Amino acid sequence: MAERRQLVAGNWKMNGMRADGLALARGVAARASRPHRCDLLVCPPATLIAAVGEALAGSPVALGGQDCHEAASGAFTGDISAEMLRDAGCTHVILGHSERRHGRGESDADVHAKVIAAWRAGLIAIVCVGETRAEREAGRAVAVVTGQIAGSVPAGADAAKLVIAYEPVWAIGTGLTPTTLDIIEIHAAIRAHIPGGTRILYGGSVNPRNAAEILALPEVDGGLIGGASLKADDFWAIAAAAQ
Ligand code: PEP
Repeated sequence: MAERRQLVAGNWKMNGMRADGLALARGVAARASRPHRCDLLVCPPATLIAAVGEALAGSPVALGGQDCHEAASGAFTGDISAEMLRDAGCTHVILGHSERRHGRGESDADVHAKVIAAWRAGLIAIVCVGETRAEREAGRAVAVVTGQIAGSVPAGADAAKLVIAYEPVWAIGTGLTPTTLDIIEIHAAIRAHIPGGTRILYGGSVNPRNAAEILALPEVDGGLIGGASLKADDFWAIAAAAQ
């Protein structure tokens, strides 16, 4: 199997005024000028994409959006298209994050349509999947996650335009993480359902203290980092732990 270079991606969510976002982006860019072993990505809120893109210019840090609409343009007040993200300098977009699946009622079909839109615009889709606490306790974690993959990832996927992020809903922003055996089990199950070479990130309460252990696990090809991506030192410490 071809070696998969790890990807460490920051999801800033709905955080950051202009000054904070620029300082964070400059901090990440400055640290990324040091030798490192992984690909790097930050996904700021939409209001900061253009400014953060300018701050990252010339650095190896890629830029991504946190969601997109399935249409290229039109009467969709408040939405942003994949083409707009691309035009603003993005190369990636996070889709199907649990805060959208569970917070905004997005279905697998919605995510599927957004992935097609992302590919149409030339973006790499980072498709998030993950079980709730109740689903895990019912022994359904593998079934839920593989079902989300089946419903969310369109035909024609390949490793150049797809990344999967396994993010247990109950681990996001809680300080809780699955056992290493649980992460290995889910990543192996995902691996059986996606094209060869596709990267599978782990996300959910990754921090500088647990990153080395998680990023060393089989089939873990990087991390999707929420809270810890809001401090350049913490984000960099996680990136430095990449394999
Ligand atoms: C996320 O929301 O994608 C995430 C992983 O958040 P956190 O790292 O804060 O748990």
